[in-house]
Amino acid sequence: MISVFGSANMDLVAYVAQAPRTGETVTGRAFRTIPGGKGANQAIAAARAGGRVAFLGAVGDDGFGAEMRATLAGAGVDVRGLRQVSGSSGIAHIVVDDDGGNSIIVVPGANGTITGPSGDDLAAIAGSQALLLQLELPMEAVIGAAQAAQVSGAPVILTPAPARPLPEELLDAVTLIVPNEHEAAAITGASGAEEALDALLKRVPEAVITLGAAGALYGSRSGERLRVAAVPVKAVDTTAAGDTFVGALAVARGEGLAPAEALRFASAAAALSVQREGASTSMPDRAEIDAFLR
Ligand code: ADP
Repeated sequence: MISVFGSANMDLVAYVAQAPRTGETVTGRAFRTIPGGKGANQAIAAARAGGRVAFLGAVGDDGFGAEMRATLAGAGVDVRGLRQVSGSSGIAHIVVDDDGGNSIIVVPGANGTITGPSGDDLAAIAGSQALLLQLELPMEAVIGAAQAAQVSGAPVILTPAPARPLPEELLDAVTLIVPNEHEAAAITGASGAEEALDALLKRVPEAVITLGAAGALYGSRSGERLRVAAVPVKAVDTTAAGDTFVGALAVARGEGLAPAEALRFASAAAALSVQREGASTSMPDRAEIDAFLR
C-alpha cells in the first residue's frame, strides 16, 4: 500500500478575458469545479498507474468534500483515512485569463485543521510500502507523518511544493525529494539543475528534479546520475504533470523497478497527462502507460 498524506482541494476555475481589478466586476466565459490539491492528485495518479493507494487527509462537511471523496474513491483510492471535519473543504479559487495567465487564492479549510497524523493515520503509515508528502498541509503535520514513516522504515517521497523553507527535521526523514526546477532553485539557491541536484543530495539520499518538457534529472548519494528525456508530445495542459509523475514514480519504485526504468514509467504517465485537459481527469491508467511504453 502507498499512503498519501496531503491536501484535497476543490479548484474553482473562472475563465475570463482579463482578471478584474479591485472594485471591478467582469463577466467570465466559463466556470469549472475540478477536484485537486497536490495530495489528492498524487493519490489518484498512483492509483490509476496501478498502485494500491490510501489517502489520508481531511475535507469539510460541505458538498465539495463529498465530491472529493467520491472522486478519490472512483479512482480506486482507499478513502477510509479521509476524515470529515466541520467547516469548509480546502479550495483553490483560480482566475484564468485569455493570455493563459492565472491568479490563485488557496483557502486551506479542512486541510489547515490537520496538525499531525491521527492514530489511524499512524497505523496506515506503519503498514505502508511508501509515503507520499507535499507541502499543502501545516508543516508540523508533514514532519509528523515523515517521522512516523521513518520509524516504520517506509521510504518518504516528498514533493516540496509550494516551495518553502525545509526544516532539517523533515529532510532527515525524507528518502527521495522531487521538486520541479523552480522549486529546486528556490530551495537550494542554485542556478542550474545539476548544481541544485548536488545541493539537494547533501540533504537527502535521492533526488529527482523535473524539468517540464526537458525531462528529469535523477541523482543519488551513492553516485548514480541519470537524465531522462521527456516524451515528445503536444502538450495542451500541463496542470498536475508533476503530480502525475510522482504518483507513477512511486508505483514503479514499489514494483522494484530500477531508477532508469521507474523514471521512464513516470515520464510516460506525465506525457500522457499533458495531452489532455484537467488534473485528475487527465491522468492515464496502467493499460495506457504500458501501451505507451511498448
Ligand atoms: P510541475 O508540473 O510540478 O511543474 P514539470 O513541469 O517539471 O512539473 O513536469 C513534470 C514532468 O512531466 C516532466 O519531468 C516531464 O516528464 C513531464 N512533462 C511536463 N511537461 C511536458 C511536456 N510538454 N511534454 C512531455 N512531458 C512533459
